[in-house]
Amino acid sequence: MNQLGTEAAFEVLARASALQRAGRSIVNLCIGQPDFPTPGHIVEAGRKALADGHHGYTLANGIVPLREAVVADLHRRHGVTVSPERVLIVPGGKVTMFFAIMMFGEPGTEIIHPNPGFPIYESVIRFSGATPVSMPLHESKGFSFSAEEVLALITPRTRLLILNSPANPTGGVVPKDELDRLVAGLQAHPQVTILSDEIYGEMVYEGTHVSLTTYPELADRLILLDGWSKTYAMTGWRLGYGVWPEALVAHAERLAINSHSCVNAAAQYAGIAALTGPQEPARRMVAAFAERRAYIIPALNRLAGVRCANPGGAFYAFPNIKGTGFDSRTLQSRLLDEAGVATLSGTSFGVFGEGYLRFSYAASLEALQEAVGRIGDWLERQNTDAGTRLPR
Ligand code: PLP
Repeated sequence: MNQLGTEAAFEVLARASALQRAGRSIVNLCIGQPDFPTPGHIVEAGRKALADGHHGYTLANGIVPLREAVVADLHRRHGVTVSPERVLIVPGGKVTMFFAIMMFGEPGTEIIHPNPGFPIYESVIRFSGATPVSMPLHESKGFSFSAEEVLALITPRTRLLILNSPANPTGGVVPKDELDRLVAGLQAHPQVTILSDEIYGEMVYEGTHVSLTTYPELADRLILLDGWSKTYAMTGWRLGYGVWPEALVAHAERLAINSHSCVNAAAQYAGIAALTGPQEPARRMVAAFAERRAYIIPALNRLAGVRCANPGGAFYAFPNIKGTGFDSRTLQSRLLDEAGVATLSGTSFGVFGEGYLRFSYAASLEALQEAVGRIGDWLERQNTDAGTRLPR
């Protein structure tokens, strides 16, 4: 159990809430969830399902109309055709990740994961007994990886390669030509299964999201992770899905039967409404994130000692703070305690996150302006106290 890590976002959230209860004003930019309510027609579908008596267990892999809706949605978004038998509905995006890593990880094997990346990858890899191998993401490449560099990490012991685009925590989007080169190179490594975490796939501001499902040569060894949490502001409903290779889906379903049995029935009906109903609420949300991104990136770049790449997707900014003279964790805790702004240290996402902070801009423009103002004033005070000026 000591191998298991955690998600610092929940710890910082607890500290920020404690400070708020003590009367402090805190601007909270640490948690990665849309600040919008679930659209009304989706809530109504969940409520109706309860009123209609959908109170029992469902099929372990999910109700048929929901899996069919997922298949239709994948066709609409990516132009791909998959069988509903390959879809496994699970309680949140995380579950597909947990199942895939536990399925492939064991002592003596290696699993490659993005660094900085979603912390649960590395945590569960260690828990499984496998060795985590970091795939570095480069600020100079818009927080993409280099295909050649990733391919060079593969050894005969590599079982699973985890990809995440658009990415948490960097907002990075991997360009199509980089994916093309990676997929071409993977032909030489047929023992490697790929887990593609595309949970932010609908939140892209620069270029387009290219789903790994559009590469037919990967179909028999690609696990797609997607879900409703971010796209439809449904983090608390706990609803996600995996599309599994034919040879693996029965194993994944058996893991579901051994753990949660099925996803709560009303949430599944709400999920159908989300995919088949009007998409305008989701589009409006993405438009709001785009507007906030247009504010926060230049605003962060104006802070002394801070440099921030323009994130192509998701709702995170990942500024380089090396010029402030503080390490990431010190800056995270001092900004929370002294400036009243909750952010996350880049090191919460792996060792290559040193020198960065993560801001979630899924918050109102006013909150973002207040946060940047407070940080600017705080940095100014440090410079004055130190009798120096940091470079702009
Ligand atoms: N994958 C990534 C990259 C995420 O950032 C998150 C949530 O923050 C998840 C998966 C998990 O999503 P869910 O809340 O649906 O389990």
